[in-house]
Amino acid sequence: MSNPLYDNLFGKYIGAKTSFIETSDGRIITHGGFVAMAARLANVFKSMGLKKGDRLAIQVEKSVTALCIYAACVQSGIVFLPLNTGYTANEIEYFIKDSGSKLLVCDDEKLSEISLKLQDIEIELLTLNENETGSIVELAKEQKNIFQTVEANENDLAAFLYTSGTTGRSKGAMLTQNNLLSNAKTLVDYWQFNNKDTLLHALPIFHTHGLFVAINVCLISGSKIILVPRFNLDELINNIPKATVLMGVPTFYTRLLSNDSFNNKLCEKMRLFISGSAPLLAETHIDFEKRTGHKILERYGMTETNMSTSNPYEAERRAGTVGFPLPGIEVKITDPKTENELPRGEIGNLEVRGPNVFVGYWNMPEKTKEELREDGFFITGDLGLMDEDGYVQIIGRDKDLIISGGFNIYPKELELLLDEQEGVIESAVIGVPHPDFGETPLGILVREKSAEPKIDKIEKIIKSQLARYKHPKRFIVIDELPRNTMGKVQKNLLRDQYRDTFL
Ligand code: AMP
Repeated sequence: MSNPLYDNLFGKYIGAKTSFIETSDGRIITHGGFVAMAARLANVFKSMGLKKGDRLAIQVEKSVTALCIYAACVQSGIVFLPLNTGYTANEIEYFIKDSGSKLLVCDDEKLSEISLKLQDIEIELLTLNENETGSIVELAKEQKNIFQTVEANENDLAAFLYTSGTTGRSKGAMLTQNNLLSNAKTLVDYWQFNNKDTLLHALPIFHTHGLFVAINVCLISGSKIILVPRFNLDELINNIPKATVLMGVPTFYTRLLSNDSFNNKLCEKMRLFISGSAPLLAETHIDFEKRTGHKILERYGMTETNMSTSNPYEAERRAGTVGFPLPGIEVKITDPKTENELPRGEIGNLEVRGPNVFVGYWNMPEKTKEELREDGFFITGDLGLMDEDGYVQIIGRDKDLIISGGFNIYPKELELLLDEQEGVIESAVIGVPHPDFGETPLGILVREKSAEPKIDKIEKIIKSQLARYKHPKRFIVIDELPRNTMGKVQKNLLRDQYRDTFL
């Protein structure tokens, strides 16, 4: 009986005594112990009547048992649906209704609020807490630690990941076994993971980065994991000497650099620092190399496509780029109007095709048709370009493109210039409504603690370097940009906040 994802990730470890996860409270979980717990959970789900293809939603803090639930779903052919821990009961109601989930696992703390919200829906509720307690753990204790793996093929659905929904309604991206498996195998080779590696894991596990990239890659390669609950500077600095790889979002790296005790001595065993999910400033890349001798490897991916491009392991890791299309994956830059492929160096829609690309949005055939072409290319919604050497650069989301008086303005071009200015840590440029131009750029600057940006000087520099239609009509200085848990700047919130600036 075969189930490719289970066999490649988990099945091969049945009975294995090798250590897999070290938790921050000092527990060691063996590979064999992990898959045995997964089997107990799979028996729980079976006893509740869940079958292949059913959806199981979970909104829980990071724990080993939460990862075992993922494994149990794969073994049972159940579609795994992890939800951001930040979602409110209202949002949860939408996801449950939309996905038709049969079971929801949540924290004990949230149970009463959620069950009230879901009282009219036919769904089972179980609990799991960060400290590995909860009703699901109690039920698992009564079950056998072996489970007859449910047969599946590579086109069967393995997971639904809802998009972060910074624009419009959140959509359920349907990911197959092969989407996940092919990508994990490719990344193991490309990043040279092996069973001598130890990954320091500080990302959330409800997102493609911390879940599929990190966990699947480690399981395929036999790497160990140090699992810390969330990003905490001290905890990271304490654990880095034991690790060989760190996967992070850019804020991990800027925060590490903000601490003087983070230095090359701490990184003696490290072989690789990976960054993704949001743009890494070229400046961070350079500062990090100066401090540690390591060049951060930046890669690019998204919920719908898993990972699509990566800087190379051996060859040049180019700051400000996300590297080359991964083996077996095609990336092209197309003209938004004609849909024809553009020459190198020109900005256009970034499209991706390959075994990594999802099969569509759940219950949204129209949306799927708009974004997933018949020939298999997915229109990512990102604007990008490919430089002369084939390195891909991400220019931003197409929805962030500003059209002012009919001219296209790419916020990234302005942001790169603004970030360099004295007194500015970073910046965000957004389009806001304007009575004459339709839309106009607004420059939002994050001040350095010790120095206020000099707006007159910045305006002069902008004038000397960029065409007039691109000049922000106003600058606003703030202390911090709003970011989601994956480190992405939430431009939608900024647009809402400053919508009336020129009206
Ligand atoms: P998500 O689906 O939440 O993983 O978000 C995916 C989006 O994050 C992509 O479409 C990009 O806009 C952005 N993103 C991911 N990795 C990078 C990167 N290395 N540089 C710039 N943007 C990135």
